[in-house]
Amino acid sequence: MSRKPFVPDPRFTKLFPDVSGNTVNGLGETEVRRPSPFFWHPPSKHKFGALQKEVIDYQRVSPAIREHFSHEAPRGPKPIERAPVEVQRPAEEWSSQIKAFALAHEGDLVGITPMSEAYLYEGYELPHRWLIMIGVSMDHDELSQAPSTYENPAAAVEVARQYNRASRVCRELCNYILAQGFEATPWPGPFASALNMIPAAIAAGLGQLGKHGSMINRTWGSSFRLSAVSTDLPLVADGRDDFGSEDFCTRCQICTKACPPGALSDDKRMVRGVEKWYVDFDKCIPYFGEAMGCAICLAVCPWSKPGTAPRLAGKMLKRRERKSQP
Ligand code: SF4
Ligand code: SF4
Repeated sequence: MSRKPFVPDPRFTKLFPDVSGNTVNGLGETEVRRPSPFFWHPPSKHKFGALQKEVIDYQRVSPAIREHFSHEAPRGPKPIERAPVEVQRPAEEWSSQIKAFALAHEGDLVGITPMSEAYLYEGYELPHRWLIMIGVSMDHDELSQAPSTYENPAAAVEVARQYNRASRVCRELCNYILAQGFEATPWPGPFASALNMIPAAIAAGLGQLGKHGSMINRTWGSSFRLSAVSTDLPLVADGRDDFGSEDFCTRCQICTKACPPGALSDDKRMVRGVEKWYVDFDKCIPYFGEAMGCAICLAVCPWSKPGTAPRLAGKMLKRRERKSQP
C-alpha cells in the first residue's frame, strides 16, 4: 500500500534558516571534525533557534508534556560540595562501584569510556578524563503510541518522563563521586550541551548505531534514553558491544518505510569523515515538530519490542559464528 506523501506544515518550514541542517551536520564532508552546536543547544549558538523554539512551544501546548518538562519535574538533586579528601581505591573497584550505584539508582545501563574530543561539540572543552554513560529504558507500550498528538501525547510524555529519570541517575551518581573527593559533572538531556552522547555511548558499550540514527542495545533495543557523568575518578574503560545489529539493519527496512517524511535511507552517508547511517535533518524535523518528538522509528524497530533484543542478538551472534567456521 502506498503511503500518502507527507506535506510539511509551514508553521515549521517557514522558520528554516538559509542553510540546510544537513550542511551544519557535515553531510558529505570527508574530513573528520567535531560536530557543530545545533538543535537542542542554546538558540544563540546556532541558526535554527527560531525553529527549535517553535518545536518546543508546540510540544508544550500539551499540559501532560509541559508538566514533565517543567522546573518542578523530578530531575534529581543539585551538585553537592566536593569532599576535601580523595578516597583511594583501585580503578577496577571504582568502576564496579559506580556501575552498581547507577543501577541501584534507577539506571538500566551503564558503561565507561575515556573522554575524547570526538564526543565534544565545537567550542566546548572538558577537563575530565572519563565519561560514564547511562541508559534508562522506555515503556514500549507508551512509546508505541507515537506519533503524539494533543489528544494522545503518550509517547512524548514517556520520552520526557525517561529523560527526567536519566537526569536523576546522573545527578545522584555525580553527587556520589563528589562525596568521594573527585571532580564530577552531570550531563542530563534532552537539551544538548558539551556532549555528543551517541558516539560516547557506543564507545562505552551501550549499543550500536541503527539505520534510524539512534542506538540499538542488546537488551532494550532502541527503547532507551541517555545521560552521562564526566569525572576524574580513576576508572577502567569498557569496550564496544558488537552483537550484530549492523548486519541486521543492512537487511531491514522497517524504519525507512515507517518514517512519514522519508528522512531515513538504506544507504550509509559520509558525515564529517565517517560513513554511517544518517537522518536527513531537513526532512525529519518538520514531522518531528508536528508529532511532538515523533519517535516512530524507535517504536517500530523490532529490537525495541520487549524481550526481542536478547533473542535477536543471540541469533545474529550465532549466524556470525557459523559464517566464521571453515
Ligand atoms: S527498524 Fe530495522 S533497519 Fe531500522 S534501526 Fe531497527 S533494525 Fe535497523
Ligand atoms: S523521528 Fe520520525 S520523522 Fe524523524 S526519522 Fe524518526 S520516524 Fe522519521
